[in-house]
Amino acid sequence: MASVLIALGGNVGDVRATFDKAVANICGMAQATLIARSSDYSTPPWGEEQQDRFINACIEIETNLDPHALLFTLHKIEKKFGRDRANEKRWGPRTLDLDIIAYDDAKLDKLELTLPHPRLFERAFVLVPLAEIAPDRLIAGRTARAALTGLSTESIERLAPLH
Ligand code: ATP
Ligand code: CA
Ligand code: CA
Repeated sequence: MASVLIALGGNVGDVRATFDKAVANICGMAQATLIARSSDYSTPPWGEEQQDRFINACIEIETNLDPHALLFTLHKIEKKFGRDRANEKRWGPRTLDLDIIAYDDAKLDKLELTLPHPRLFERAFVLVPLAEIAPDRLIAGRTARAALTGLSTESIERLAPLH
């Protein structure tokens, strides 16, 4: 089994409800076990600032799917929950974004799949939820906890559990 960290994001629709269903779909479709799930966070948009705030979270799963098969499955789930890649702009509004942050210690450098995620350490909206579930996991030689010391987390707000 591989230990995989996945970042969830979205800012269109009932994102927190989408996350609940997406996590259930990931476990079902990737025959994965959910090891940990962070709180949901309200975060400022990144890259394209003129849009609604996002909700972000992270999960850790264990799965036997290889990285490419997992990414394929995640794309299917994004689509199922209304993601329309053909009609969106980069870093713009979306119902659901599922990124593979790390897959065991795998290193891949392809456009279609880069592991660990190449922009992880620039993004407090990924590192804050990640630090909740895996603060000391070494990812490309760094930890979420240490990486966060250099980033502003001022406008990131942890949301109370829904249920
Ligand atoms: P960013 O990658 O900066 O977070 P994004 O999530 O908005 O941007 P998408 O449009 O969702 O980008 O994805 C673009 C492509 O990135 C996908 O088609 C996918 O093949 C590729 N990709 C490369 N590495 C990864 C990864 N680790 N996790 C998910 N997708 C990846
Ligand atoms: Ca992303
Ligand atoms: Ca993505």
